[in-house]
Amino acid sequence: MGIYRYVIVGGGMTADAACRGIRDHDTDGTLGLFTSEAHAPYARPPLSKALWAGKEEDSVWRGTSELGVDIHSGRRIVLLDLDARTATDDAGETHSYERLLLATGGAPRQLASGGDDIVYFRTLDDFRRLRALAGDGVRVAVIGGGFIGSEIAAALAVSGCVVTIVFPENGIGARLFPRGLSSSVNDYYRSKGVDVVSGELVEEIVRDGSTFRLTTSAQRLIEADTVVAGLGIVPKTELAEHVELAVDDGILVDELGRAGRDDVFAAGDVARFPVPALGGTRRVEHEDHANTHGRCVGANMAGANESYDHLPFFYSDLFELGYEAVGDVDSRLATVEEWIDPNRKGVVGYVDGDGRARGFLLWDVWGKVDDARALIRSGAATDGDVLRSLLD
Ligand SMILES: Cc1cc2nc3c(=O)[nH]c(=O)nc-3n(C[C@H](O)[C@H](O)[C@H](O)COP(=O)(O)OP(=O)(O)OC[C@H]3O[C@@H](n4cnc5c(N)ncnc54)[C@H](O)[C@@H]3O)c2cc1C
Repeated sequence: MGIYRYVIVGGGMTADAACRGIRDHDTDGTLGLFTSEAHAPYARPPLSKALWAGKEEDSVWRGTSELGVDIHSGRRIVLLDLDARTATDDAGETHSYERLLLATGGAPRQLASGGDDIVYFRTLDDFRRLRALAGDGVRVAVIGGGFIGSEIAAALAVSGCVVTIVFPENGIGARLFPRGLSSSVNDYYRSKGVDVVSGELVEEIVRDGSTFRLTTSAQRLIEADTVVAGLGIVPKTELAEHVELAVDDGILVDELGRAGRDDVFAAGDVARFPVPALGGTRRVEHEDHANTHGRCVGANMAGANESYDHLPFFYSDLFELGYEAVGDVDSRLATVEEWIDPNRKGVVGYVDGDGRARGFLLWDVWGKVDDARALIRSGAATDGDVLRSLLD
């Protein structure tokens, strides 16, 4: 039995950041980290970007073990007892804590057909599997036009694969980008040799020897040697639900990251947290949030008492296109746009019914995230002048 002051369930970027937050305030409290993956914490964003562009795999490690952390990899926590303050792992060992963090992230959403033959791209092992399958002339069907689908389609195309990307929306990134931008990204992918199939759902996947046959809602047949899917994630809340912590599309936490008790915390992709600058709560699945929320909540586990009031930003790279974004970047909101070069370099503002800034998409515009944050916090009306100020 392990006896720890702090137990962290999960081994992602949030878990690593939480260890750092704890160590900022408590240099020697015993700290045990349990992760169901076979690896110590690593950075996920390079898995769909830099590692395909030649960056060494070794660059992903976060160095968590240097923080004086007992890392138990390949150990899933299966049971919590909040009264006894214990966590039991899948080897049947029970570990005690004074403070517990749930940083369990999310599991990829899966299709009804295809089973384990489909690569649901999320982990380092998924990257290794896909890297081994990819190569010149290999036909890959990528299902999903969101973050993971669009990035991995670009990475595979650059690696010589013959890529078809298929998704139900009208355009790549359609849940974020205004319609015109999203359809121009479709055209851009086509210009890079990717077959873009928009507005169609994959309804069935059948394997015939080494060939996969995908049938879409428009009865289109797509043949592929490999199928990759990026359909979003479902937050891993089972442990929290089992001990009756409040859950609503994520574990509900307060501004300190507490999940309804002083000794249980949650952070990162799995947590739903208050966002004073925008009102209400959000659950954010991005790197900056994993790092900052994880660090802040870790600090609070060690008694820092710091409210989380950060507006996390996110970013993506699509071939040579790239962007940063902050706030509510949601194509269901009204938008105002200002382009230096249409759909290549410019700013999109997302506004509420009163024209006030909710979010900004900075398309090939760099170093402006803090200015965009300040505009959102100020509640200023967003017009052409405001957008142009982000392009200066
Ligand atoms: C391929 C890829 C590319 C990305 N690119 C970007 C990007 O460009 N920009 C950006 O902003 N964000 C990006 N993200 C998102 C970002 O990486 C995530 O938001 C962040 O990694 C979430 O970290 P997390 O630790 O909260 O959750 P996770 O990464 O999901 O980690 C949770 C960990 O907990 C483990 N676990 C779960 N349950 C248990 C249990 N019961 N017991 C033990 N262990 C458990 C899981 O196995 C996992 O290791 C990307 C994500 C992926 C997958």
